[in-house]
Amino acid sequence: MIFSETFIEITYFIATALFILSLKWLSSPTTARYGVWAGELGMALAIVGTLFYRGIVDYKLVFIGLALGAIIGVPLGKVAMTAVPQRTALSHAFGALCVTLVGTSEFYLRAPNIPPFMMAVLAMEVILGSLTFTGSLMAAGKLQEILPQRPIVYKGQNFVNLAFLSLAVALAVILVLHPDQVKLFPALIFIPLVFGVMLIIPIGGADMPTVISLLNSYAGLSAAAMGFVLNSKLLIIAGALDGSSGFILSVIMSKAMNRSFTNVLFGGFGQIQTVAAGTGEEKPVKSATAEEAAAILSAANKVVIVPGYGMAVAQAQHKVRELFDSLTKRGVDVRFGIHPVAGRMPGHMNVLLAEADIPYDKLLSMDEINGDFPQTDVALIIGANDVTNPAARTDASSPIYGMPILDVDKARTVMVIKRGMGAGFAGIENPLYFLGQTLMLFGDAKGFVGNIVRELSGGGGH
Ligand code: NAP
Repeated sequence: MIFSETFIEITYFIATALFILSLKWLSSPTTARYGVWAGELGMALAIVGTLFYRGIVDYKLVFIGLALGAIIGVPLGKVAMTAVPQRTALSHAFGALCVTLVGTSEFYLRAPNIPPFMMAVLAMEVILGSLTFTGSLMAAGKLQEILPQRPIVYKGQNFVNLAFLSLAVALAVILVLHPDQVKLFPALIFIPLVFGVMLIIPIGGADMPTVISLLNSYAGLSAAAMGFVLNSKLLIIAGALDGSSGFILSVIMSKAMNRSFTNVLFGGFGQIQTVAAGTGEEKPVKSATAEEAAAILSAANKVVIVPGYGMAVAQAQHKVRELFDSLTKRGVDVRFGIHPVAGRMPGHMNVLLAEADIPYDKLLSMDEINGDFPQTDVALIIGANDVTNPAARTDASSPIYGMPILDVDKARTVMVIKRGMGAGFAGIENPLYFLGQTLMLFGDAKGFVGNIVRELSGGGGH
């Protein structure tokens, strides 16, 4: 008995250390792989440790649960990169459902003898768990386009939402004072379930990644609350790590999009997509062919490639790798400028470029690369738009005014690969395309980069 308790304590301790190391390692592309392994090993150890728990009465049920989890989890792990945000939302939904169910069973096992602190934690666990469950399902549905992506707003929405939340908190307070009011408990689950749906309704589909990382934070906090209820230090620590890292990530994403946190939650987020692209009048742009682009690139000393959502859509990362190799072989210094919200999820560009084996030390963050643009011969933008829009610096009326951008317009020559004059996520025109030093390279990112590579290797053709 003593042995199994010591064993559990040791495995939990190592698992906790691995979770912390995992987060640390995940924050840099060079160590991210170790981060994933550490996280996986930590979770495996946590499960093994739990299997030695004395309180387990029936292993059959535990193993059926494990098998079911594996049957659902393995295909979920194999979804396409572009579907990762909705996959993550589904994981949060499952986690939150689990937390709510555990909280519910603990309540009915313990009621009416629940001390106030324990009841408060239980209520927090169940409220956060239920709202995260439906909120995450809604988020996944919007991202998968099963539900309409556009934000649904109505007058007094924030008031209604706040009323729902206040009602749930009021119920929690009553239960803390009178834990024998067992009949109130179902409402403590039901109201946050509805609140989770209402919370996501006003948020636009493409803005979901920020909200998902916030739901991640809620799921973490509810798991930490469950840790207090079950007296598990491992759950408290893992939940707190999850809760705080999800919160920090949503703050980083909001900042990088120049939105306040309240705007994310209450502002009918995502509506700026309806802003019309441009003024309608035709302005002249200069365009160039792959042959001309190849000549300019091979004559350059310093090139900075700025990838964006279009590179992800076109799956152009492997062609970009070929371009990198080809230019590097000619002695051109090629680096990548990565904006924190380029693409549609955090780390989107890093993951794609890492998949194509681009050396990590060539990927520079916005803050690292921005000072170098005035000494850059060519800024080559591949399917990026908003993250390079100088209106964010200069036009106070722009919806993205104040959003930090990559200062590509300071480079001597700017080349932009995109299919046409289509707007990006923010739905606004980009004055960069009309600057004197800008050349538009019209075409699909994968096809156009492939053509440049062919030109560089002397293959010709278009
Ligand atoms: P973007 O502003 O959305 O622009 C992408 C551009 O790619 C479009 O203008 C489009 O122009 C072009 N494109 C699309 N398909 C293409 C293809 N097959 N080949 C070549 N070009 C293609 O992208 P971004 O600069 O990466 O900025 C990201 C935006 O998403 C920001 O506004 C950010 O706030 C937002 N956002 C990001 C996150 C995140 O976590 N990363 C989360 C939520 C929102 P054409 O149609 O003319 O080709």
